[in-house]
Amino acid sequence: MEYNASTQNFELSGLSLVDLAKEYGTPLFVYDSATIIKQYKRLTGAIKVKHLKLNYACKALTNVNILRLMKDLGAGIDAVSYQEILLALHAGFLPNEIIYTPNSVGVEELEAAIKLGVKINIDNIEMLEYMGHHHADTAFCLRVNPHIMAGGNRKISVGHIDSKFGISIHQMPLVERLVSTLNINIEGVHMHTGSDILDVDVFLHAADILFDVARRFKDLKYIDFGSGFKVKYKPHDFETDIEAFGTEMSKRFNEFCTEVGKDLTLMFEPGKFLVSESGYFLARTNVIKQTTSTVFAGIDTGFNHLIRPMFYDSYHEIVNVSNPTGKPKIYTVVGYICETDTFGWNRKINQITEGDILCFRNAGAYCFSMASNYNSRYRPAEVLIHEGKAYLIRQRESFEDLIKNQVDAPVEGWLKEAINT
Ligand SMILES: *Cc1c(COP(=O)(O)O)cnc(C)c1O
Repeated sequence: MEYNASTQNFELSGLSLVDLAKEYGTPLFVYDSATIIKQYKRLTGAIKVKHLKLNYACKALTNVNILRLMKDLGAGIDAVSYQEILLALHAGFLPNEIIYTPNSVGVEELEAAIKLGVKINIDNIEMLEYMGHHHADTAFCLRVNPHIMAGGNRKISVGHIDSKFGISIHQMPLVERLVSTLNINIEGVHMHTGSDILDVDVFLHAADILFDVARRFKDLKYIDFGSGFKVKYKPHDFETDIEAFGTEMSKRFNEFCTEVGKDLTLMFEPGKFLVSESGYFLARTNVIKQTTSTVFAGIDTGFNHLIRPMFYDSYHEIVNVSNPTGKPKIYTVVGYICETDTFGWNRKINQITEGDILCFRNAGAYCFSMASNYNSRYRPAEVLIHEGKAYLIRQRESFEDLIKNQVDAPVEGWLKEAINT
């Protein structure tokens, strides 16, 4: 999002955000393909190994047009549910371009995923043993829990000792016993320690642990280091130093390949890194309400559409795109949900008046994909900006969508009778 002084507009690839809000209505998610492409190339450019594969963690943003963009860039897909696999197939990915990383799913779902032919990432020993007994001819990936505490906060930190994810490194002797006794083909090892890891050294420490695990499996084809790259949420925020990370990681990976005498594939599965900064969420100001201590700006959305501030205490920068040259004032920005629904306390924002369009940054990852119909509100539309043009990629919901799966009880008057008896 750039301020264009000549048009006095905030623009994305030359398109005014205020105009987009007018044309498509609010609330509205807007994604800029240029940012996704830039981030993809930045990560692939930073890593210098013979075989690199990025599997986009599609739970961040699952619109099929975004998935197709990822495919065109050369990415695979990291799916965490059967439904995400179906979406990826629908978007045109081949089964072997999809890695399925489930947790706490039932055997039926795993069997169905195996039938589709996708790569399977095994998350617990029970499942490993089951696969050994039932799918001797299938190759698997093992999700390892390296037991390091990392990540933005406890809810998104998934590699620590109390985490439900992965197979503990301390259980490797048991894993090895099962693998050799049941003759299981382990083609990959994997870890994902959480979102928002700042520190390159923490990541590299976890990587060393995974290399140790990788040494145990002779059929290995790839090592998947998951994700956790942190992006900027504020202008002077920290972000993962991808270039420094890439240099170190490549060096270690290449040394490892030399050591084992094989050109393995290095894999990552970024979600947030690829799409967070590409997204802008536009909402209209319904009301400015001054109470004794606070000036509230109430907007036409709520945590039903953007839950991260309430759920994770996430910070999303908020800009008044209708008033680019206005005088900054202090506002608390709230939603229209009947519940505490605060997007940001005490934010310095250019003077807001009723009808102004506010824009949330970093709205690409875990925003639309976590949106709900709470308060029976419709989920927003989505627009993709690509090479200077805007494309509607999801319609705003309508009353039909709210009602379509609801079933009228078969007997007329049944409730009334029950109440009267
Ligand atoms: C969510 C998830 C990711 C993506 O994490 P980001 O922080 O969005 O990059 C990667 N791998 C797995 C297994 C995940 O569950």
